[in-house]
Amino acid sequence: MKIKSADFVISNSDVAKCPNEPLPEYAFIGRSNVGKSSLINMLTERKSLAKTSGRPGKTQLINHFKINGNWFLVDLPGYGYARVSKKSKKTFQKYVTDYFLKRKQLVSAFVLVDIRHAPQSIDLEFMEYLGANAVPFSIVFTKADKLNAKTIEKNVAVYIRELLDGVWEEAPNHFITSSSKNIGREELLAYIDNINQQFFKESQ
Ligand code: GDP
Repeated sequence: MKIKSADFVISNSDVAKCPNEPLPEYAFIGRSNVGKSSLINMLTERKSLAKTSGRPGKTQLINHFKINGNWFLVDLPGYGYARVSKKSKKTFQKYVTDYFLKRKQLVSAFVLVDIRHAPQSIDLEFMEYLGANAVPFSIVFTKADKLNAKTIEKNVAVYIRELLDGVWEEAPNHFITSSSKNIGREELLAYIDNINQQFFKESQ
């Protein structure tokens, strides 16, 4: 998919105030510092559509971007950063969970995880939350440029094994990406494009 336009539309903390248009929507979420802003900028080929390297937790809003005039990319707040209180650390903000429960336009979520790290409970819990609420999602492994091919393969296998040993009967779809080396961009956009085409065919 070629990105012809990528426009910021609205930021808010209330799912009811998200755009009304019935366009397919994809939400990006993960721990702070996982590389979400960099990934969004890579996908859209914009240097600073999503802000990068801000103070963790600064972007505590639901941010809608309209892409090519016919789908929404949603940048959700990072979870699990160290500076929040203990209580909010493991609970996801209500407006974020509301978003997943109520947002009809949401087609699929992308849960970002740093490929260098062993599976973290907060990510696994968040995936369980999505699964329990029948929200389709893919895992996006980030920062693949930091590891060699063999370690990437091993870490992905460990992650999938952890999911299959847990609550998952089937491994979620996954992508391997690097924003600094432009890895995984085509695959991710092709995946979105494919779903979009289906969406528009069905809504005709
Ligand atoms: P966010 O908090 O999830 O939005 O993460 P950012 O996109 O701001 O990235 C956090 C840090 O990781 C920054 O220092 C980025 O330069 C770095 N980073 C993000 N993506 C990559 C990547 O693909 N490769 C490498 N090596 N560093 C990355």
